[in-house]
Amino acid sequence: MDLGIRGKRALVCASSKGLGLGCAEALAAAGVDLVMNARGAGALEAAAAAIRAKHGVDVVTVAADITSEAGRAAVLAKGPFDILVTNAGGPPPGMWSDWARDDFIKALDANMLTPIALMQAVLPGMMAKGWGRVVNITSVSVKAPVPVLGLSNSARAGLTGFVAGTSRQVAGKGVTINNLLPGIHATDRAIALDGAVVKARGISMEDAIAERSATIPAGRYGTAAEFGAACAFLCSQHAGFIVGQNILLDGGATNTTM
Ligand code: NAP
Repeated sequence: MDLGIRGKRALVCASSKGLGLGCAEALAAAGVDLVMNARGAGALEAAAAAIRAKHGVDVVTVAADITSEAGRAAVLAKGPFDILVTNAGGPPPGMWSDWARDDFIKALDANMLTPIALMQAVLPGMMAKGWGRVVNITSVSVKAPVPVLGLSNSARAGLTGFVAGTSRQVAGKGVTINNLLPGIHATDRAIALDGAVVKARGISMEDAIAERSATIPAGRYGTAAEFGAACAFLCSQHAGFIVGQNILLDGGATNTTM
């Protein structure tokens, strides 16, 4: 399917690896020029070079912490953008009793206030042009809590509330905002969480992965490529009537009827 977005320009945050990279790849495959971002320059440059070579699109890299004001200013200076994909690392796991105010502030900064600041920066330009697409990478924890990820549960719920209202305010100008909610995907993040289980329970990594896979009706972890394809569709011309949605990509793991 032609997504109808060849020649558009996208900012894909936190995109040297994992789900962000999956989104960058899928947008590049649709002919979208990219600004890619991550903190570490090595993996970022390697990912950008591979995308340029494979898809022939223009790729600008900005090595910066997207959760800092200076980092956001550095990526936003590469605008304007037709498409924004927000993403950042997820907060660490723990117990509800572990976290103090500073831990919450850090999680809110990374997973709520950063995507909100990025949207506030790019929405006026998109609305003036009469076209824009925003996809926020959030988490399955928005629909069903992941108890050990209390910081994520909290911060992402706040972002979801902001998007619910704001998406309705900008839709009339041709701009859509939606959230993609990953369940378990085979990325460094998932492996790190599996590693914590291995350590806590003294089981093997294979057993930890098999146990988690057994909780997913699809029987496996998702891939970054599948995730990216869903993101690219939400950024396409065809998705202009999808507004303010929270779309689960979890292999059926969240046991809800709607
Ligand atoms: P990942 O494989 O660990 O990749 C994270 C990417 O983000 C890397 O490119 C990393 O590069 C970059 N990054 C991290 N913090 C950053 C920052 N402050 N500024 C700029 N770039 C940053 O993670 P993932 O699995 O793709 O997860 C992406 C998001 O989805 C996370 O918020 C995660 O919590 C959420 N999620 C993932 C899953 C899953 O199963 N994978 C499930 C639910 C939710 P640098 O380290 O070099 O900066």
